[in-house]
Amino acid sequence: NPIIDIEDVSFSYRETHAPALNHISLAIGEGDFLGIIGPSGAGKSTLAACLSGAIPHHFGGTLYGAVHVADKDTCEVTLTDISRIVGSVLQDIDTQMVASVVEDELLFGMENFGVPHDKIEQRLSEALQTVGIANLRDREIATLSGGQKQKVAIAAIMALQPRVLVLDEPTAALDPASSLLVFDTLAKINREQNVTVVVIEQKVALLSTFCNHVVVLDNGKIALEGTPHEVFSHA
Ligand code: ADP
Ligand code: ADP
Repeated sequence: NPIIDIEDVSFSYRETHAPALNHISLAIGEGDFLGIIGPSGAGKSTLAACLSGAIPHHFGGTLYGAVHVADKDTCEVTLTDISRIVGSVLQDIDTQMVASVVEDELLFGMENFGVPHDKIEQRLSEALQTVGIANLRDREIATLSGGQKQKVAIAAIMALQPRVLVLDEPTAALDPASSLLVFDTLAKINREQNVTVVVIEQKVALLSTFCNHVVVLDNGKIALEGTPHEVFSHA
């Protein structure tokens, strides 16, 4: 079974508005590195919200179809249950992060999740190492670069050991070199921890280099889907 199965999903934020997602069906395999691309307003963030359970649990609106995450229907389980499977890094990481020092950001999430005390230090250091920021452990988050902040947000999620990592334009505010480092980190997590990665990204070169599966969204629909080669040689 796919780790995420989206079956004929349509979603409107308000009854009267055009659907943000319009008959989307998509199977995401365990271990996939999926890239989602498309113009502004295409529905990319809305699709990410369906994977993280923010839709239907947080946003109001009308949802048709079903999203299964690790064989659970997201409508039938709590947001907390979903968050133990899918970790997400939002577009605006400054609003997502709650602590002022890097290690506290990771500790906060783990305490929230009820990670046993004798496991916390090991998970903390492993997550920092996986993401390559062990040296930033005691730093004030406010003093970090955009790329370093992205990595802190990713490490904080990784400490919670999700099976799927969803990121909404993690490179939007980054220069090309930092963008590449963030994708290198995602590739390492995907390869070494077998975490399924779903990333919204506008840079074709990054998707071509790192993804095995690409979806082009346009106007709430899947315009193209396949390997990067299939999708981008079409364009
Ligand atoms: P992007 O194209 O980068 O995803 P958007 O401008 O579509 O950014 O959305 C930015 C934020 O504003 C998102 O959190 C989104 O949920 C919210 N948003 C977008 N469109 C609307 C709208 N019509 N009404 C209310 N909130 C919206
Ligand atoms: P993208 O991420 O591809 O830019 P979004 O998923 O943010 O697209 O938006 C898809 C559509 O849904 C757009 O028409 C947008 O205006 C609308 N939308 C997004 N967020 C909200 C929201 N919170 N409330 C109402 N409409 C929204």
